[in-house]
Amino acid sequence: MNTTIRKSKLAHMKSFDNLFIELTSDCCNQKCTHCYIDFPQFKKGENFIDIETVENSLKDIGSMSLKCIYLTGAEPMTHHDFNSILRLCLKYSNVCICTNGSFINEKKARFLKKVEDESKNEIIFRISFDHYDEIKNDDSRYRGAYRHGSFAIKHLVKYNFTPIISVTNYYNEDERTICEKFLEKFFDYGIDKSHIIINPFHDNTVREDEFSVESWGRLECEYGRMLTSKGVYSCPFLANDYRGRCGSNLKDFSKIVPLETEYCQTCCKSLHEMFGINFSNFR
Ligand code: SF4
Ligand code: SF4
Repeated sequence: MNTTIRKSKLAHMKSFDNLFIELTSDCCNQKCTHCYIDFPQFKKGENFIDIETVENSLKDIGSMSLKCIYLTGAEPMTHHDFNSILRLCLKYSNVCICTNGSFINEKKARFLKKVEDESKNEIIFRISFDHYDEIKNDDSRYRGAYRHGSFAIKHLVKYNFTPIISVTNYYNEDERTICEKFLEKFFDYGIDKSHIIINPFHDNTVREDEFSVESWGRLECEYGRMLTSKGVYSCPFLANDYRGRCGSNLKDFSKIVPLETEYCQTCCKSLHEMFGINFSNFR
């Protein structure tokens, strides 16, 4: 009998730079083929975080100096209090909206600029894509996804935002080619290399006992935590997953995370954080 016990490596939190807030765990206006979220099949998602929870958590963080708050989902812009939460978060730090872009038309972009102008902090956008080719992109995401993303970029640029193109490398292609092709398409909108972030696709067919983690670049769990309506988790990948549970509030939460899930392997393969923005690379 094999009695070997596998010991997981541990990731220690180095600084609290990034707070990810899951505004909703199950509400999105789209359904991408590869989405890791378990959408309810027969009813509309309805799990939203309360604005009070967000407010109390920001007070708990207090003097810690966040670099950025990320509003994530499913689709964060489906939250009925989205505008109020955005304004609240902007009082504390820069805010990055991680979105499929489908809610951003010209009117919304103009409004968001007004909200930003009222604050001393900045709004950043991460618009998701899977491929530079419209057909391939929509095949792995949903019909119209490429158009939604491109229109969002166009409207945001008009109001002086420079959105980030956030690519999941679903087709496992050469990253340099992906970057060049996106630049060809969006260079005229002022998008440069620093605004294209490419992440490996998480293959959820890999079993936990088929991998081990030895080394890594920068991990999300070393530089931030994820807040959801259910508590605090190590990172967006492990939101609401008991394996990533770090506590119930941001006053008192675990700063050490065992790297033992299949998601950890995907993260460790990437040399940079997959959700957080490394501002030293960002112009
Ligand atoms: S847009 Fe995002 S949250 Fe919505 S289905 Fe696609 S991957 Fe999932
Ligand atoms: S999935 Fe990535 S960020 Fe999350 S705990 Fe594992 S290694 Fe850390």
